[in-house]
Amino acid sequence: MRRNLCSTECYFCGDEPKLVEKPRLITQRDAGRFFDEYAGMLVADAECPSCRAQYLAWVDMRGCKYRTVDPYIHGDPYFDLSFRKTFNDEPACGDQPPWYWWEERERKLHDALAVALDYISPFEARRVGLEKYRRNQDER
Ligand SMILES: [Zn+2]
Repeated sequence: MRRNLCSTECYFCGDEPKLVEKPRLITQRDAGRFFDEYAGMLVADAECPSCRAQYLAWVDMRGCKYRTVDPYIHGDPYFDLSFRKTFNDEPACGDQPPWYWWEERERKLHDALAVALDYISPFEARRVGLEKYRRNQDER
């Protein structure tokens, strides 16, 4: 797991997240237990305009004593991203776009229903592979 995505593109849709506030110093709330390492870094909350995923944009690391990431790229609004809630490259629930959350929920519900009803849908058949589906059908 990394603290940063090593990218300025949205993890979910590839669009370019936009800053939703002016660059500011990173806080304990942003960085949690990693705050000491990143103290002095300029960051800003960012949001993807297409899918609304939530990020913390890395704006300028020059004031930061800990620098393993490539230097600040002058002229760009930011040079890297973290997910806002986790301060790493794995999104928490509130960082994901709303549709992602719904899809995941729908999939879980679908799986639970399929198990409950001992039913396998065409969608499920594609997912587990047609071969396994046919075997299941033969056994019935
Ligand atoms: Zn997006």
